[in-house]
Amino acid sequence: MRIRIQVIIEADQESVAPLHSEEVACFERGTLSAETLGLRLDEAKQMLAGVQQVMASQQVEEYVEQQRQCPHCQHSLACKGHHQIGVRTLFGKLTLSSPRLYTCSCQPHQKRSWSPVASLFSERSTRTSTVSRHVHQVAERLEGELGDEQPSFIEGCPDQWYKLPEPAAPLVVSLDGGYVHARSKDCRKDGSFEVIVGKSTTGEGASTRFGLVSGYDPKPRRRLFAVLQAQGLQMNQAVTFLTDGGDTVRDLTEGHSPQASHILDWFHITMRLTVLGQMAKGVSVEHKGEKFEKELERVKWFLWHSNVYKALQLLEWLELDIDTETSPVLTPMYTWLMRLFGEPLQTVM
Ligand SMILES: [Zn+2]
Repeated sequence: MRIRIQVIIEADQESVAPLHSEEVACFERGTLSAETLGLRLDEAKQMLAGVQQVMASQQVEEYVEQQRQCPHCQHSLACKGHHQIGVRTLFGKLTLSSPRLYTCSCQPHQKRSWSPVASLFSERSTRTSTVSRHVHQVAERLEGELGDEQPSFIEGCPDQWYKLPEPAAPLVVSLDGGYVHARSKDCRKDGSFEVIVGKSTTGEGASTRFGLVSGYDPKPRRRLFAVLQAQGLQMNQAVTFLTDGGDTVRDLTEGHSPQASHILDWFHITMRLTVLGQMAKGVSVEHKGEKFEKELERVKWFLWHSNVYKALQLLEWLELDIDTETSPVLTPMYTWLMRLFGEPLQTVM
């Protein structure tokens, strides 16, 4: 079957013929299945965009008709020309026809002509090139104001830090990284990049969000330092970094403050332990699979109670229990244990 969606616009007064009718979408449907029942997301968007464009164009047309008549002498105003403007709405950007009308000579006017539609939507209309140029200019200016990248932003010595005024409450900075893959599904080689986003919160609860692309941004640490500086960071003030323990994220947090401390956040600890637990499920009892699960629960318990020493000790014993030579099933677990072991755990204090 074919489903056609039409917009019919009628005048306020009852009349025989509608003011305007226009088809905005047409959908085809074959055999009914879960996928073909009702509207698809792309169809709904197409329909909404169509209705919005037709409705807005008609509203604008009516408005222009009203403006064509001089409010003082009722003379019809001549049209100087047409151009199109883009207007942002709740449901996307619309392209509207915007005529330029001559002003009436019955009254003194500053200009010989004006565009009623463009004037009405002056705050919402956009000329893409202008906006893009403006954004570039602002970005370049901000980039120019950002100082050079440095290995460390810590200045002075403990004696000087001691003389500084009483610092504000610690700043808490949470950071997380995620990989964005190329759009095409087939070709993962198209590349990916790591985006790091973060939030820095002062003791009063004022927070600033920031983001950067590691490997592309030439000044990632300076960017973070600028955020901390803007929040009034002093060299005698504590800064707590909450991270997933990843290398890139941890590198970013080095050298901002002598009072910095790192905390591996609980979400990432449990995420890694859960993966380990799932791996342990596949291991038979003779390879101590059950024991691993129980031991991992204990590791989690120790970590939750900040007993890193005990957690590390348990992991060390577990590591000794894994014989990677004889049991290939345990190899991924071993790798995971080493990762938990090696880097991030030392930062949990
Ligand atoms: Zn007039």
